[in-house]
Amino acid sequence: MPKLVILGTSDAVPDERHDNTHMLLLGEERRVLVDCASNPVMRLRQIGIEPNSITDIIMTHFHPDHVSGIPLLLMNMWILKRDKLLKLYGLEHTVRNMEQFLDAFEWSRWLDYPVEIKRLRELKMTLVMESSDFKIISFPVTHFVPTIGLRFEFPKSGKILAYTSDTAPTANVIWLAKDADILLHEASGSSSGHSSAAQAGEMARQAQVKELYLIHYPTGDFDSKSLVAEAAEHFDGPVALAEDFMEFDFD
Ligand SMILES: [Zn+2]
Repeated sequence: MPKLVILGTSDAVPDERHDNTHMLLLGEERRVLVDCASNPVMRLRQIGIEPNSITDIIMTHFHPDHVSGIPLLLMNMWILKRDKLLKLYGLEHTVRNMEQFLDAFEWSRWLDYPVEIKRLRELKMTLVMESSDFKIISFPVTHFVPTIGLRFEFPKSGKILAYTSDTAPTANVIWLAKDADILLHEASGSSSGHSSAAQAGEMARQAQVKELYLIHYPTGDFDSKSLVAEAAEHFDGPVALAEDFMEFDFD
């Protein structure tokens, strides 16, 4: 059962075929949205998922292309008559800023279902949540603001998925991706807080992952066709671009 559906793959500027990077992890017990840049209701309905069936939202960091859709999603959930608990997770910096962002929309005046916010420690191997289908662990990565990458462990199949979020190359990416079956690595371009496709390939090699998928890559006018080839120069395993609506099974 556990599967990941990619809902968006672009860096900060989306195009017609690539929404901002966000994804959904589906298990028997929990349905976890990772980041929420635009309004995910449309994308969720396109894959047959009711927005109010989402149980958890993990916010990797407080940048608009990762979390600016959260107030609107929470409002949509209220209009759609949500009554069950919604859990949000993020580092202190992310949570504090999100609370201020929601306060600006006077969320306490309209929100009538329970929301619980969990502050994650900014430490390696922090347990975010555990269910019968998967365990999610966070690692701080190297970006312009406090940011976490995520490691998903699936106990029934023994499979491992890793997602870097936004980061420059760092030892913590190697830790979080160690021996993963699939690494989703950002490839928005080399800078102090991001990685190039070549650097993603290098991280995949050092973490000894089985397959590398590039995500959070330049789209539209910034599209670059050479990303896969660039990463493959540094990593011997299969490399591909993640695409919107791609699914990964972890049975
Ligand atoms: Zn960012």
